[in-house]
Amino acid sequence: MTDANSNTMLDGERFLDSLDDGREIWFEGERVDKVTKHPAFAKAATSIAGLYDSLHDPDQQEKLTTVDKFGQRTHRFFAPSYSAPDLEASRGAIEVWQRQTFGWMGRTPDYKAAFMAQLAEGHSYYGQYADNALNWYKKSASSVLFINHVLIDPPVDRNQNRVDVRDVYVSVEREDDNGIYVSGAKMVATGSVLTHATFVAVNSGVAARMEAGRDDDMAMVFLVDMSAPGLKMICRPSYEAAARNPYEAPLASRFDENDSVIIFDECFIPWENVLVYRDIETTKGFYAHSGFFNRYNLQSATRLSVKLEFAAGLLMMGTEATGTDQFRAVQTAVGEIVAMRETIWALSTAMVQDPEPSIGGTVVPRLLTAAASRIYATNVWQRVRDLFEAYLAGAPIYTISGPQDLLNPELRPTIDQYFRGTGLEAEARIKLFKLIWDALYSEFAGRHAMYERNYAGNQEQQRLDARRWAIDRGDARRYRDLVEECMASYDLHGWVS
Ligand SMILES: Cc1cc2nc3c(=O)[nH]c(=O)nc-3n(C[C@H](O)[C@H](O)[C@H](O)COP(=O)(O)OP(=O)(O)OC[C@H]3O[C@@H](n4cnc5c(N)ncnc54)[C@H](O)[C@@H]3O)c2cc1C
Repeated sequence: MTDANSNTMLDGERFLDSLDDGREIWFEGERVDKVTKHPAFAKAATSIAGLYDSLHDPDQQEKLTTVDKFGQRTHRFFAPSYSAPDLEASRGAIEVWQRQTFGWMGRTPDYKAAFMAQLAEGHSYYGQYADNALNWYKKSASSVLFINHVLIDPPVDRNQNRVDVRDVYVSVEREDDNGIYVSGAKMVATGSVLTHATFVAVNSGVAARMEAGRDDDMAMVFLVDMSAPGLKMICRPSYEAAARNPYEAPLASRFDENDSVIIFDECFIPWENVLVYRDIETTKGFYAHSGFFNRYNLQSATRLSVKLEFAAGLLMMGTEATGTDQFRAVQTAVGEIVAMRETIWALSTAMVQDPEPSIGGTVVPRLLTAAASRIYATNVWQRVRDLFEAYLAGAPIYTISGPQDLLNPELRPTIDQYFRGTGLEAEARIKLFKLIWDALYSEFAGRHAMYERNYAGNQEQQRLDARRWAIDRGDARRYRDLVEECMASYDLHGWVS
C-alpha cells in the first residue's frame, strides 16, 4: 500500500526530463539526440507538459484528479470508476485536458489510461503475470505515465497467416531467466516519441484468427520502456518542423503528434513487463475483458466534442468574415456541425450515465453505446470537411504567403485594403483563415482526417463488431422479437384478435 494520499504525479518539467533517456528516434536520416529540444517535436512536448502542469494547478486539481484505492493521487481517468458519477467525473477530467489542446491531440496520456486503469481490478486475468499487471497499474496511475499503444501489424502480406510474415510482424525470438527477446514491426504508434512506454498487443480482429500450435510465438501482450535497447522509432515527416511560425500554422506548430513506426530488433522485454506470453486464449480474450474498448470511446468522444465545437466556431467566424453568414444555406452548414457536436456529446453522456458493470465492481460505458459512438465518430470529420469545402468554399485560398508580407511597409497598405474581411481588418482576417487552413486543408489537417477515419479500426470491422456484439449480448433477439410480434398480429385471414 502506498502512503495515504501520496502525490507523485509528474509535472511538466519532470515529464520533459523523463523523456531524456537515450531513446532511439530516427528523423530525416539522423538519430534524434534530445527529443524535447528537437524542432520536429519540441512544441508538441511542451503542449503535453502543459497538461501535466495542470494536474498540479490548485484551481484545476479537484476536477482533474482523484485518490485511488491505493492512496495515490492521479488523473481521474487513470483510476477505475466504480459508479456512474465517478465515470462522469472522469469525463470532466478528459474534457479539461482536451480544452487545453482545443481537441487537436488525439493521444493525450489519458487515451491509454482507458486500458491501464482497469488493471487495478483486472490484473488477476493475467494469471502468473497478474503482479506485473498490478504493478503497471500502480506505476501508471501514480506518475500519470504517458503510454502509447501498437496493435496493428504493418500493411504487408495481410493475405498471409501472420506466422508466415515473421520477417515483418512481431514475434518472440527467444527467452531466458530474465525475460523475452522480440523482433518485428508495428504499423504506427501515434505520439510515441513523447511517451514513456509502448503497449504491444494485437487487435480483436487479428486475435480472433490466431490458432494454438501455429501462432504461439506471436501470442503476447507486453509493455516496453521507450528507451529499451533494440526499440527504434522511425518517424513520419514533422508538420511541426515544417511550420515556419505560429501565425501560419497555429495547430501544426504545437499539436503535431508524430506517428512513428516502431521496430523491435531483438528487443529485450524483462519478465516484469510481460502480461501474456505464448498464450492464444488469453491474447484473444484480453481486449474484451479489459474494458478498454468501452472506455477509449469515452475519451475519444469527449475529445471529438471539443474539436467539433472548435470547428463550429471556425465556420461561424469564417463565414462572418466573408459576409456569407446571413445566407440561409450557409447557416445550415453551421447547424449541422452543431448537431454533430451535440450527438457525440450525448453519446458520451449516455456512456457515463448509463454504464455497464465490469471487472471488480467497476463500471464502464455500455459496449454497444461505445460501438455506436465509434462508428458515428469516425465518419463525422469527413462531413465537417465537406461542409467547409462547400460553404466556406474558396475563401481560405484568398491569402498571403506569410507574415513577412504584412510586415513589409511597402506591401502593407495594399494588403490592408484588399485582404480585409467583413468588419475585420486584414491582419485579423488573414490570421483567422491561416488557422482555418491549418485545421482543414494543410498536411496536418490531412493527417487528422485520416486519423479520425481510421484510428479506431477499419470501417468494416467497426460495423462487424457492432453486429456481433448485438447478437452475442441478446440485443438482436429483442430486435427479432419485435418483428415476430408485428407479424403475429395478422395472417392470411386478416388481423389476429
Ligand atoms: C493517423 C493514424 C494514426 C494511427 N495510430 C495508431 C496507433 O497509435 N496505434 C495503433 O495500433 N494503430 C494506429 N493506427 C492504425 C489504425 O489502427 C489502422 O489504420 C486501422 O486499424 C485500420 O487498419 P488498416 O489501416 O491496416 O486497414 P485494413 O485493416 O487493412 O483495412 C482496409 C480494408 O481492407 C479490407 N480488409 C482488411 N482486413 C481484412 C480481412 N481480414 N478480411 C476482409 N477484408 C479485410 C477491408 O475492406 C478494410 O476496410 C493509426 C492509423 C492512422 C491513420
